[in-house]
Amino acid sequence: MHCPRCAAEVKEGARFCESCGVSLEEYGVIRDPSAEDNGRPPASGGMDASVRRRMIIAFVVFDLILAVVLIFFILKMG
Ligand SMILES: [Zn+2]
Repeated sequence: MHCPRCAAEVKEGARFCESCGVSLEEYGVIRDPSAEDNGRPPASGGMDASVRRRMIIAFVVFDLILAVVLIFFILKMG
């Protein structure tokens, strides 16, 4: 790739131009791949399904704990 300011050859993935020392991140030449993923739906539905399943399990576990606590309180009061 080339420097956006002096058009000198810059190594791929370099943060600064070796010729003029300009910050390539400032010019938007290098983009953070993790930031680009934010807000974008996942390419595969596999991840989403596993997350949904984990959420359902969490809800079931929470309900079970709530039921046990409720039974405990009823037994203690009665
Ligand atoms: Zn440059």
